[in-house]
Amino acid sequence: MSAAIRRSVLDAARTVVIKIGTNALSKADDTLDTDRIAGIAEQVVRWRKTGRRVVVVSSGAIGAGIGLLGLEERPKDLPHLQAAASVGQAHLIGAYDEALQKHGLHASQILLTANDFRRRTRYLNMKNTLNALFEYDVIPIINENDTVSIDEIKFGDNDRLAAMVTNLVERPLLIILSVINGLYDGPPDEPGSQVIPLVERWDEALRRLAASTKSSRGTGGMATKLESMRMATTAGENAIIANGTDPRILDKILDGQEVGTLFLASRAPLPAWKRWIGYTVNPSGQLHLDEGATKAVQQNGKSLLAIGIRSVAGNFSKGDRVSLLNPEGQEVARGLTHYDSPTLQQIAGKKIAEVQALLGESVEPEVIHRDNLVVM
Ligand code: GLU
Repeated sequence: MSAAIRRSVLDAARTVVIKIGTNALSKADDTLDTDRIAGIAEQVVRWRKTGRRVVVVSSGAIGAGIGLLGLEERPKDLPHLQAAASVGQAHLIGAYDEALQKHGLHASQILLTANDFRRRTRYLNMKNTLNALFEYDVIPIINENDTVSIDEIKFGDNDRLAAMVTNLVERPLLIILSVINGLYDGPPDEPGSQVIPLVERWDEALRRLAASTKSSRGTGGMATKLESMRMATTAGENAIIANGTDPRILDKILDGQEVGTLFLASRAPLPAWKRWIGYTVNPSGQLHLDEGATKAVQQNGKSLLAIGIRSVAGNFSKGDRVSLLNPEGQEVARGLTHYDSPTLQQIAGKKIAEVQALLGESVEPEVIHRDNLVVM
């Protein structure tokens, strides 16, 4: 049964997004494991030969920089981290390119910040560039632009970046390669704990399983991996977490072997516009809804009106992304607001007639139109 599911997931995938973590790319002495990269390149070529497009999201810049510069430990301040990333990134992309060239392919380097996803025009440009690279039969190697990234424009970690890239490509399968075999049903280091081969549904028990397994060289742990699985699956895509230290892991996945944990899409794929709204950057503010509005938005497919908003948090402009929270404070949806935060403060809880009395007859009746809203 499970093998048949794997098969159908593979058959459905037109683009495979492979995320590789720093630990899976580092040798014991902290230098970049170029043999591992050569092995990945070889397997990527095999995936490519099946007619699928391949995108690699690779960490390892900072780690490689630390190794090359012979640093005793990971720098703690931003300029030194960014300097290490700058040195390491050149080495990292060089290693991919060299490995791919042995098979007649080229690597391309794409360095991104969260801002590139925030602006719709940049986002679309990025999509077009990726398509042009696929046309040239090049393997895009994506990383965060660590050398210029500061907190405000950071993805946080490459697991998240990979999920965002997944939402950008056609019929994707996300594969996150880490140093862990998959999601375990208990603490991973406890004997008796086993890898869960298939996750069909997203629930609290699953979240609790995200043991804190923070790694030393990279930034993500199991929690961030699960978060990126959630981002991909709730947008309607399938995703796998598997062990990148197994040198043939990508071959095994391609052969349909039951390695790692497969997370199944939890809905039909969302249209591109809704993905951009719901699954790219963090919202700039929050709207706390009353029960009626929560139900209207979450279950009845309705737009959001001012009357259902209890309170407004954050500073945002017209057209920005905001989170819609239920009375318990949980996020139920995201959308693009017609009103900036000062105006929303004024009209929250008011009927349309009152809003019109305040702002004029020709105002937008909806705070967020259904077309610009995605239920999470
Ligand atoms: N962008 C960082 C690097 O290449 C890694 C971030 C992460 O591992 O999540 O070193």
